[in-house]
Amino acid sequence: MAGERILIVEDDERIGSSLLRALEGNGYDSHWEQTGAGGVASVANRRPDLVLLDLGLPDLDGLEVCRQIHQTDSSVDVVMLTARDEELDVVVGLDAGAIDYVTKPFKLAELLARIRAQLRRVETAPDARSSVGDLVIDHAARRVELAGVEVDFRPKEFDLLSRLMAEAGIVVTRESLMSDVWDEYWFGSTKTLDFHIAAVRRKLDRPGEPSRITTIRGVGYRLELM
Ligand code: CA
Repeated sequence: MAGERILIVEDDERIGSSLLRALEGNGYDSHWEQTGAGGVASVANRRPDLVLLDLGLPDLDGLEVCRQIHQTDSSVDVVMLTARDEELDVVVGLDAGAIDYVTKPFKLAELLARIRAQLRRVETAPDARSSVGDLVIDHAARRVELAGVEVDFRPKEFDLLSRLMAEAGIVVTRESLMSDVWDEYWFGSTKTLDFHIAAVRRKLDRPGEPSRITTIRGVGYRLELM
């Protein structure tokens, strides 16, 4: 995976420089721009595989930068870096074409895991078996194993877990889950989704430990990388 190109668009000197160091230390071909206009120009010139985009930039609104990036290169993936209380912006950001977001302050290890997951998703086709930590699913046999023990999943629960697993570490929107797991023309309540998420959590989560599935309020759900 070494050598993939990552563009950082971030005006904060401290965050930008530490991200650049960390990404280069992990073998990524990285470049840092401090303005939105610089970021858009860099997408045109350098054709990055992934962009880490700060929402609060001095010259252009981050969402506008995201739109311009996609006008320049519609295939580049954008991960937004946001402050914790900008949840509304997050929804709009996903609408603007961002594939994921990370809230500040973030742990570097978590961000690197999300980047790896994202780049892996771009590269690999669905496999017969996939795993996240001790959770393994066999797509062909439709079986789920947790720490080596088979767990009984109902069909929709399996489809839901499988969908979240395909993008482990990344937020999957409620809309995607509803249309992929249920039906494009589903007119029922999306409470169905929450109900099934609760059922999957009961089967996966251990008492006293954080859930393996995180709720991103108003946006969707994320299966956590272990
Ligand atoms: Ca900023």
